Amino acid sequence: MLTPAQAETLIEQHLACLPIESLPLTQAAGAVLRENIYAERDQPPFDRVAMDGFALASAAAASNSGRLRVAGIQAAGDPPHTLSDPESCIEIMTGAMLPHGCDAVVPVENAQRTGEIAEFGRKAVEPWQNVHRRGSDCRQGSLLLAAGTRLSAPEVAIAAGAGMARLRVSAQPMIVVISTGNELVEPGEQIEPHQVRRSNAYGITAALRQHGFARVADDHVRDDEAEIEKRLDFHLRTHDVLILSGGVSMGKMDLIPKVLERLGVTLVFHHIAQRPGKPMWFGVSEDGPAVFALPGNPVSTLVCLARYVLPALRAAMGQSAADAPRISLTSPFEVKAPLAFYLPVKLRSDDWGRTSAEPRPTNGSGDFTALAGTDGFVELPPGPNTFPKGFVARFFRW
Ligand code: AMP
Ligand code: MG
Repeated sequence: MLTPAQAETLIEQHLACLPIESLPLTQAAGAVLRENIYAERDQPPFDRVAMDGFALASAAAASNSGRLRVAGIQAAGDPPHTLSDPESCIEIMTGAMLPHGCDAVVPVENAQRTGEIAEFGRKAVEPWQNVHRRGSDCRQGSLLLAAGTRLSAPEVAIAAGAGMARLRVSAQPMIVVISTGNELVEPGEQIEPHQVRRSNAYGITAALRQHGFARVADDHVRDDEAEIEKRLDFHLRTHDVLILSGGVSMGKMDLIPKVLERLGVTLVFHHIAQRPGKPMWFGVSEDGPAVFALPGNPVSTLVCLARYVLPALRAAMGQSAADAPRISLTSPFEVKAPLAFYLPVKLRSDDWGRTSAEPRPTNGSGDFTALAGTDGFVELPPGPNTFPKGFVARFFRW
């Protein structure tokens, strides 16, 4: 049976990169950049005044007992004045271009103004004080954002600063979440004692939305071969990614694998040496769609989604791969079976600012109520073994 790492590699190898689309800046937050963004100009683009005050030639201020005539006023956005007489100064505003002939700014609070004359006292005026020099942050043409960057607030502002009105980003995949099972009943509808709430579809959709995937459809099929075939055939033709839950185990009603193969979806793997989530099935269709068929037990579903599906979707969007962070356990934990074990955890921060993972085991793969308040899970190596307090494992967020 495959290890989680082998399954992860196989998924990576079979997933096609999503196409590129162009989005206006206002819609770009959360998207993955597919082009490099370079500085349009030097940054700052000119010697920029950093304080409200008086722009002057520092040498003149020293030689004239700190008294200069105010020759003009210049605001941010004004073309630069020229200091024609070095014995004068220009009243200046934050963000303005430094006037020609000036090399320093004295803040307004350090100056005394009487009519046309500004006095700067005895304090020495240093060249370039309160001036943010042209190109001191970055040079025109330097790489600001690399393709593969996920855009959050600073990156969107940087792209705007580089003059980009639209950005080439990965198109969002068209995803459909499909639950299976005769026993499942929609929240809000009347339920019989032998029935179960259809909770997985909501958990999956919530995770997808939380991770920035917005084009998510939802469907439910009963454990009926003809119905499954008809619905899956439709979804394979209309979506990039199918995420199924249930119907992939060994029971008589676990019809998903054989119907998928009949519809031309090529099996890449079935079963991973892990708990929970061992029966996970993954395949790809010839014309592109990828199919993640997750086991139906609610803990298995959410674990497989965060462990395999979300990283795969990020990779398909072209997002630069970030390895799962490592975190240490706050208490020992025993893994009995010779399978990789996914242990739900709550993150804790100690007085020294170190974060560690508090085990929050469930009562089996059906016990999703125990997941309330957890942040994700760690991947522990196969047992039998007792992993001590401080054991470092990979952490996956829900
Ligand atoms: P299955 O993988 O179809 O054999 O289902 C395994 C267990 O998960 C059964 O107890 C199902 O009732 C339950 N289950 C399957 N799908 C869902 C779902 N969408 N929401 C909640 N529980 C589910
Ligand atoms: Mg089922």
